[in-house]
Amino acid sequence: MDFRLPEDLVRLQAEMRAFVERELAPHDSAIERTGQIPDSAVAALRRRGMFGLNTSADHGGLGLSMLGTCVALQELAKCHIAYYYLAGVNVHIGSKGIEFAGTEAQKRRWLPELASGRIIGAFALTEPEAGSDAAAIATMARRDGDAYVLNGRKTYITNAPVAGVFTVYAKTDPTARSAGISAFLVEAGTPGLTVGEPIGMLAGHGSGHAELVFTDCRVPAENRIGAEGQGFALAMRCLDIGRVTWSAYCVGAAEKLLELAIGRASTRHQFGRPLIANQGIEWQIADMHAALHAARLVSREAAWLYDQPGADASPACALAKLVGADMVWKVADATLQIFGGAGYSKDTPVERIWREVRVVRILDGTSEIMRKIVARQALRPPSIA
Ligand SMILES: Cc1cc2nc3c(=O)[nH]c(=O)nc-3n(C[C@H](O)[C@H](O)[C@H](O)COP(=O)(O)OP(=O)(O)OC[C@H]3O[C@@H](n4cnc5c(N)ncnc54)[C@H](O)[C@@H]3O)c2cc1C
Repeated sequence: MDFRLPEDLVRLQAEMRAFVERELAPHDSAIERTGQIPDSAVAALRRRGMFGLNTSADHGGLGLSMLGTCVALQELAKCHIAYYYLAGVNVHIGSKGIEFAGTEAQKRRWLPELASGRIIGAFALTEPEAGSDAAAIATMARRDGDAYVLNGRKTYITNAPVAGVFTVYAKTDPTARSAGISAFLVEAGTPGLTVGEPIGMLAGHGSGHAELVFTDCRVPAENRIGAEGQGFALAMRCLDIGRVTWSAYCVGAAEKLLELAIGRASTRHQFGRPLIANQGIEWQIADMHAALHAARLVSREAAWLYDQPGADASPACALAKLVGADMVWKVADATLQIFGGAGYSKDTPVERIWREVRVVRILDGTSEIMRKIVARQALRPPSIA
């Protein structure tokens, strides 16, 4: 068994690291202050192919494997989370529905635009009354001649204020739960679709999350993605990618935090010696390193499994997100503690990252829902591992 990354991905990692340090991270403070990613940084993301990491080269993407995509996103996690929301979310839930189940015409029309970042995609599943229980959505899509008429509300939709196209999940059969859900492509500006004001969040300044309201919104029947009733399965396939890539985000963010913690513990002197000279601090660093290393292996295994033809990577993606989200939260909190007052103040990036990483326990399925999936796997009859 070889745990090393292949040579081409080691090169990709080095290139991505240099790209993030040179072109993105210098804007972190300004993004936090202004709530805007500078146009020059968005242009840099586009030039580097960050909107289409995992989109096939035929459709204008870089055509990276899932492992390669995760290697790139792990580096993107070392700068402001607004970049990840814009480009990273586009790579997974924003565009994957079309790639998995779209017609050739839908793929040709949308994928090159999404992979280049000329158009941003958003994924609209959650509703005010249906979050974890996504099969309970109430947004309706009623067939009317050569169109569907959508009515309902979605909430917390990442990139809604800037998206050019939405994958919207709605009930075509209100009597069924998951089997009654279908997916639709809805272009921004379609009459009957209103994007609400951005919702204030704990972190992620510079990204937009908003409500969508559909009021007799007519969508051509040819905009349905896949067959009627297959929308829920499609959403879950998109979320598998969301989960494994968020696990890579957790690894990258924790690597950044650990680097900050070691730097601070080595240079800050109290009682006449560096903090790191105290065993209490040294052991905290060891625990952070150990948890990070374990989460990195679980994340890499899920990405690797995803790339194996015919494999069911869904439980591995859930496990990777559960482990990563928990790990990065603990690493962030320990880093803030090692920084003391400087960690709690806005003088260092630590408090920002601490707030940013909290979200991974909530979006793309909460840690409790990940536990339900992991428990299903754990409670199966044992097999030789
Ligand atoms: C920043 C951000 C961005 C988001 N982006 C998007 C997006 O782009 N598209 C989209 O569709 N959605 C998006 N979401 C929504 C997100 O997916 C939901 O918030 C998430 O699925 C949880 O749903 P909820 O908030 O309604 O919580 P609820 O489902 O109400 O859950 C509340 C709490 O109860 C727990 N819980 C629920 N059921 C169980 C159970 N059976 N057992 C144990 N515990 C349970 C949950 O884990 C949680 O802790 C985003 C959310 C955030 C915060």
